[in-house]
Amino acid sequence: MPRKRGGKRERRVCPRCGQEYYFIRFVTRGNQTYAYAVHGSGKNRRYCYLGPVGDYIYVTRTHIPDGVKLTGMMTPDRLVQYLYDIASTIYLRRDKLSEHEKRLISTVIDILRGCTASLTPS
Ligand SMILES: [Zn+2]
Repeated sequence: MPRKRGGKRERRVCPRCGQEYYFIRFVTRGNQTYAYAVHGSGKNRRYCYLGPVGDYIYVTRTHIPDGVKLTGMMTPDRLVQYLYDIASTIYLRRDKLSEHEKRLISTVIDILRGCTASLTPS
């Protein structure tokens, strides 16, 4: 177990269930490696699937036309990366957007503006 300076054990929270896990187990199948958070020990041992290390190879194929590369839960900033990929694709398609899509995008921008208000000087 990694330890912080001073000897205290670093608390690791499972991104799937929110409980503390003991360690991450990596299992390689074919050309893909998958991560599992390992909870408990002995008869109480259980695993939470965290997805592949890196990209979801097969699922990503269906999202390539939308410019989105889906990744496992081991990727710490994946939601923001998805947002960036989607925004880039929407920008490229900006001349083909319907009025409905433009209204949805405007709502999303308002939501995101609320997220970044504390970061931007007014
Ligand atoms: Zn878990």
